[in-house]
Amino acid sequence: MPLASGHRSRVARYQHLSGVSKILGTPVGGRRQQLRRAVPATRFSRGLMPRLPAKNTVMFLLRNAECFAPQPLGRGDVLVALDKIVWLGTELPSLPASLEVEEIDLDGYRLIPGLVDCHAHITGGGGETGGARFRVPRQGLSEFTGGGVTTVVGLLGTDDLTRTTADLVATARGLTEEGITAYCFTGGYHLPATTLTGSVRGDITHIDAIIGVGELALSDHRSSQPTLDELLRIASDAHVAGLMTGKAGLVHLHMGDGRRGLSLVRQALDVAEIPARVYNPTHVNRTKALFDEALELAARGCTVDLTAFPVADEEDAWSAGEALLRYLDADLPLDRVTVSSDGGGCLPTFDEQGNPVSMNVASPAAMADCLAGLLTSGAELERVLPAFTSNVAASLRLPAKGGIEVGADADLVVMDADGRVRDVMAMGRWHVREGRAVRYGTFEGRRVGDGKGHV
Ligand SMILES: [Zn+2]
Repeated sequence: MPLASGHRSRVARYQHLSGVSKILGTPVGGRRQQLRRAVPATRFSRGLMPRLPAKNTVMFLLRNAECFAPQPLGRGDVLVALDKIVWLGTELPSLPASLEVEEIDLDGYRLIPGLVDCHAHITGGGGETGGARFRVPRQGLSEFTGGGVTTVVGLLGTDDLTRTTADLVATARGLTEEGITAYCFTGGYHLPATTLTGSVRGDITHIDAIIGVGELALSDHRSSQPTLDELLRIASDAHVAGLMTGKAGLVHLHMGDGRRGLSLVRQALDVAEIPARVYNPTHVNRTKALFDEALELAARGCTVDLTAFPVADEEDAWSAGEALLRYLDADLPLDRVTVSSDGGGCLPTFDEQGNPVSMNVASPAAMADCLAGLLTSGAELERVLPAFTSNVAASLRLPAKGGIEVGADADLVVMDADGRVRDVMAMGRWHVREGRAVRYGTFEGRRVGDGKGHV
């Protein structure tokens, strides 16, 4: 589907006369079709060769966007060149007449940074609910982009044995090749940590995609029950590797619902010099008591992560939306709370003896659903949006992510009037237009033997 099919979209050349931009229309798709014909036919006829998209427009001018960066900027225009935001404002500067720019009038729709998901099982999670047939398959590109996620951190959970760090790194690299930005954590629930190079410090230092370690499980019957010294050692490894590389260097901690809660992290903060920011507990909204403990840790300097899993009315848990509003009312640093999807992870329930009772699979779109739910319930976008964007990027030390500003990566989401994902751009390329995916992962939708796919 041509990217310029939207009724408000046009490819234009700019000619500048007396400082006023005059738009000269160019037939949409005309030049693109010529380029498509110029590619040798054999390139598309091999069965396994992914069909490459036609030449991409390299500059987009998004006009009349109600910008939240995530702070509100008001109505304005955003110019994207290749994979970067290069200009924001209301008075379009003069552009060379030879530039080809696709202009899209957003007509007042809200434009927000692409969501940054710090916790997703990009290779699939599960496997602990009664057999290998419950290993969840990997999530496709459009499942992330459909949920407005343009940056994702993949990780291993309970199954850090049949799942490997090598597969995780390759999967992250594949998602990045497909157009979003993907990183990963080394390790998994257990100690000694599953790694690629033989050490957590080596993985973070030597492997570009690896930016921290986790999800290391605490206070959970599936945990390897680390001692305080073991937690300190792995936190030290992550922190030092973070210093050496400029990466996040986080220990992302899966919190179970055990009564020890966050006590081990408190002890670590009490006895060692490792900064609080290194300890990054997730699922802290899974019980109300755990959430209260997490608020105390945020006051001490930890960034705490809320999981956007479904919560029933009678459950002793806060939904991520409810927990976020409670956090924001708690007179704590506003930048130390994030929301993640747990996408691709299984959501099992166990009886008192640890036997699986049921399971579900978390959606990569859970963050977008949570954000839309917050807006529907009357929350102000600028108040809640940092937890989905800039706070996550800051915690992960990704300065080009999570914001709309000059020099930032061109990761953008247009929200519809109901606060749902309407259009998604990742690294300057459209992935979702008017609620529909226009770009898919290499093998998404392919079935063996049908000889075609969506690529
Ligand atoms: Zn977890």
